Amino acid sequence: MDPIYLDYNSTTPVDEAVIEAMRASLAGNYGNPSSVHSFGQKARTAIDNAREQVAALLGAKPNEIYFTSGGTEADNLALKGAAMAGRKKGNHIITSRIEHHAILESGHYLEKNGFEVTYLDCDGEGMIAVDDLRRAIKPSTVVVSIMTANNEIGTIQPIREMAGVCREAGVPFHTDAVQAVGKIPVKVDDLGVEMLSLSAHKFYGPKGIGALYVRSKTSLTPLLHGGSHERRLRAGTENTASIVGLAKALEIADNKLAGEHRRLTELGGYFREQIQAKIKDVYLNGPLEKRVPSTVNLSFKGVEGEAIILSLDMKGIAVSSGSACTSGSLQISHVLEAMKIDPELAQGSIRFSLGRYTTREQIDYTISVLPEIIERLRAMSATYDNAN
Ligand code: PLP
Repeated sequence: MDPIYLDYNSTTPVDEAVIEAMRASLAGNYGNPSSVHSFGQKARTAIDNAREQVAALLGAKPNEIYFTSGGTEADNLALKGAAMAGRKKGNHIITSRIEHHAILESGHYLEKNGFEVTYLDCDGEGMIAVDDLRRAIKPSTVVVSIMTANNEIGTIQPIREMAGVCREAGVPFHTDAVQAVGKIPVKVDDLGVEMLSLSAHKFYGPKGIGALYVRSKTSLTPLLHGGSHERRLRAGTENTASIVGLAKALEIADNKLAGEHRRLTELGGYFREQIQAKIKDVYLNGPLEKRVPSTVNLSFKGVEGEAIILSLDMKGIAVSSGSACTSGSLQISHVLEAMKIDPELAQGSIRFSLGRYTTREQIDYTISVLPEIIERLRAMSATYDNAN
C-alpha cells in the first residue's frame, strides 16, 4: 500500500487544479503588479480577481482582504498591528493559552515591549468560557485574539459570542481561522469578527501564502515597511501565482465543504470508535461535539507519542504527536497542558488528522496495525500496568 498521510492539520497536498492555475500564472503572468504597463496590469488584474473571489467566499469586501506570507504573518499583523495602533487607548491584550505559537509568541514579544497580556484558560475539553473573556476585558484592552479551531485537538470556540462581547466593549476581535477555513463554514459577518487569519497550505493550496481579513475602519499599524502594496499595510511585491493559487484552493474547498464535512465526520468517528474498541486505555482529547471532525487526538496510556509516531512511520503511516522531544527532554503540548491532561497521558498523545484524500481503506489499515504497535510498546513500558 502507498504511504498513508494522516497529518492534514500540519499541511495538505496541493490540489491539481491549483497547481494548474499557478503554473499558468507563473509561466504567463510575470509582470510586476505595481508596473503601469500591460504586463503589470495583467498581474494586477489576476490579483484583483483573486481578492474579489476570496472576499466573496468569506462574505467580505475585496478591500478588506490583505494577502500575507501565511498564517503566521497574518496572526502577527493582527495582534501586533492592532496592539500598536491601539497604544494611545491602552496596553492590554487578551488571548488564550491554547493558541498557535504565531499568536502566543507575538503575545510574549508584546509583553517584552510594554504590553500586558491575559492568557485565558480553557476547560478539560479545550473550550474557553465566554464569561471568562467578558471578565477579562478592561478599559485598557486594545485587541482580543481567540482561535476558531484548535490545530491539535480540533475544538471549535464560540467565536460569534466572543466577538459579540468584544463589540459591545468596543474592542477589535481577531480569530485565527487557519484550521477552520475549508473545514467548517467561515463567514466574517456570521462570526462578527474584525480580523481573521487564513493560510492556503491548510486547504490544499501552496505554502507561504495567506490572508488577513480586516473589517473596514479597523486600525492596524503595518509590520513591514517599504512600498505601498496591499493598501500600505503590507509592503513587498505581491506573490501573484500563490495569490491565484490561494483563491483557487479556497473556491474548491468551499465547493467541497459540506460533502467533506459529512464524509470526514463519519470516517473520523469510525476511526475513533474502532481504536477505542480494539485498544484499552485510549482517551479522546477534546470534545465529542463542537470540534473539527477530521482531527482525532488520542492519548494512549503508558506509551510515548514519539515511539508511536516512529512505529507508525515504519508501517507507512504519517501522524504527529502532542509532545515534542526538545533537547533530550519530552516537552508536553501547551494545549494538553492547558487542558490539565494528566502528563503521562499527554506524553502518549497522537494527532490523527484526516483530509480530502483519506480513504476508508487507509483508515482500516491504520486500525489493523495500531493495536499491535501499542501492545508491543506497552510491553516495554515502565509505567504501564500490563497486568490490568
Ligand atoms: N495558526 C494555526 C492554528 C495553525 O495551525 C498554523 C499552522 O500550523 C498557523 C497559524 C501558521 O500558519 P503558516 O504555517 O501559514 O504560517
